[in-house]
Amino acid sequence: MPIFSSDVKRIGAEAGFDRVRIARAEKLESADARFREWLARGFHATMTWMEREPEKRSDPKLIFPAARSVAVFLQNYYTPHRHTSPGKVSRYAWGDDYHNVLREKMVTVLSELRRLDENIEGKICVDTSPIMEKPWAVRAGLGWIGKHSNLITRDIGSWVFIGVMLLNVELEPDEPFVEDHCGTCTACLDACPTQAIVEPYVVDSAKCISHATIELRDETLPDDVAENLDGWLYGCDVCQDVCPWNRFETPTDEMRFEPRNSETSLDLISISKMPHEEYVERFRGSAIKRAKLSGLQRNAKYLSGTKPEQEN
Ligand code: SF4
Repeated sequence: MPIFSSDVKRIGAEAGFDRVRIARAEKLESADARFREWLARGFHATMTWMEREPEKRSDPKLIFPAARSVAVFLQNYYTPHRHTSPGKVSRYAWGDDYHNVLREKMVTVLSELRRLDENIEGKICVDTSPIMEKPWAVRAGLGWIGKHSNLITRDIGSWVFIGVMLLNVELEPDEPFVEDHCGTCTACLDACPTQAIVEPYVVDSAKCISHATIELRDETLPDDVAENLDGWLYGCDVCQDVCPWNRFETPTDEMRFEPRNSETSLDLISISKMPHEEYVERFRGSAIKRAKLSGLQRNAKYLSGTKPEQEN
């Protein structure tokens, strides 16, 4: 039996996704141009893996030659909690690792689709393949990319994860989202503690607290980031916290995104003294492991005023 867009949307909703939309599997020309310019300006900082095979990021057929349609799944992860102290963790990492949660749901969706049509083939991408999730969400009509460079939806704000599934069937696509509802607002540019949003829609990762506290493997943090950490131990949410579109934030139904151990900030002394075995046990299945224990301990030192020795 052939499947339709409505089947993908219904099954996605049944699996617990908040929104599901469809796009045609064609090259994202303008997103490709913007990404290459961003790379050329060096704004990816130490994330040199982003330089590999940039052509794959915009052309789904280079990742999955059979791709005819792109199904984009949104998962709201907002939970109504606040940070309690320095040692702040970005919202997205409070609960279970979203890679695992989204992948599990998308595997369910794909197997349900196969029950309708055994010839369906799909490739699931949750931050694991070189796919530009945000431009795909725009192309599928889910929202726009704000001046802080995150996806914003009109009805549930920007606290959303994006999962992409490439499918080997032609499905009726949704209308792309063409408006930009940032207007004259500059709240995220003004609030960024390190002025990392160097111009609207452009983030310089070298200045970004998220990049420094999660991705940077150096023993020390750049001075301009270190002096403006604003209590952040892992990631940073300032640009999304101030965004007026997050007045539409709504608690998620996905309980796995509730803060583990009810913690939204981590205790700096515990992190500083944590043995590796405890770190492995405590953060198993958490996105926080991305920073590694050495990164968390480096960040904790800065936040507790014991800056690591600068190398000569
Ligand atoms: S804070 Fe304002 S400018 Fe920034 S993304 Fe939100 S609406 Fe756009």
